[in-house]
Amino acid sequence: EHIANQIAAGEVVERPASVVKELVENAIDAGSTRIDVAVEEGGLDSIRVTDNGSGIDPDDCETAFYRHATSKIAEGRDLFQIISLGFRGEALPSIAAVSKVRVVTSNEQDGRGRKIEIEGGNLRVNEETAAPKGTDFLVRELFYNTPARLKYMKTIQTELGHISDYMYRLALSRPDIAFTLRHNGNTLLQTLGNGDALQVIAAIYGTQSAKAMMKIEAENMDYTLQGYISRPDFTRANRNGMSLIVNGRYIRNYGLMQAVLKGYHTLLPINRYPLVVLQLSMHPSLIDVNVHPSKLEVRFSKEPELFSFIEEAVRNVLRQEIL
Ligand code: ADP
Ligand code: MG
Repeated sequence: EHIANQIAAGEVVERPASVVKELVENAIDAGSTRIDVAVEEGGLDSIRVTDNGSGIDPDDCETAFYRHATSKIAEGRDLFQIISLGFRGEALPSIAAVSKVRVVTSNEQDGRGRKIEIEGGNLRVNEETAAPKGTDFLVRELFYNTPARLKYMKTIQTELGHISDYMYRLALSRPDIAFTLRHNGNTLLQTLGNGDALQVIAAIYGTQSAKAMMKIEAENMDYTLQGYISRPDFTRANRNGMSLIVNGRYIRNYGLMQAVLKGYHTLLPINRYPLVVLQLSMHPSLIDVNVHPSKLEVRFSKEPELFSFIEEAVRNVLRQEIL
């Protein structure tokens, strides 16, 4: 069991950012509207994720750390979920196998909760404690018992970069959730969770950038698009500020990116790039099954139609702005 968990951990927990991702996804699944992430030394010293979600039933708390103890039943609706089924119920045991975990959780408003501490997969504490509703995960000394893995960790800045990239993408995909990210006590991200994508853009890129955004909205039989794209007088030297979100998930798709640029560049020089955040909704059947959500790459079943829809939408906003 221990060995199995350590092997599974190798697949699920690659680096501190993977721990952040798994814990934050659990917090989202638990219906949290506020999720605070605090890491020390790029997450190698500690990772703390605090949420105001459903909490874990005291009687289920220990079992949540056994393999395949998922409480989530796949409904078969969301393609992204189907694809990630392989990892269902493996995150907590995997993380606990290679670190020192403390969780404090309560699923009631009565202030009573449960505290569990696990070190390298061994249960150390399981007791009643006072706790607000929600869950507070603290993961310390990641890979302390797997030195081979620890050796592969890059600099603190690199590990922090992976964490903040993930948090930025998530905040852009979920403007309805209030996120904070802190590193060694410094706040790197703070969103309000009021559903306003522009506020998230301001939090990540600064208020000047947010002020330079034009609203973009378009709809046809298959697709609904909304988002923001920067005015022609506010462009960037690279495409790092281009975010695509499909059905609430941050994705990468080269063609979609090109479609945005084509629409933008019909009226503008081609060596500059917009800051852009696009939220696209479509029926899941229009997303190709050959996707790898772990790599964020997605294909679509009707790419030419989708790409010209996007290109047109971008060109329209730009034309309105210029004329
Ligand atoms: P999965 O997310 O695939 O179900 P995990 O190992 O990530 O598996 O989590 C195991 C279980 O622990 C979850 O199914 C859930 O019931 C519970 N859990 C984990 N984190 C939280 C949280 N932040 N809030 C509420 N429940 C949680
Ligand atoms: Mg999970």
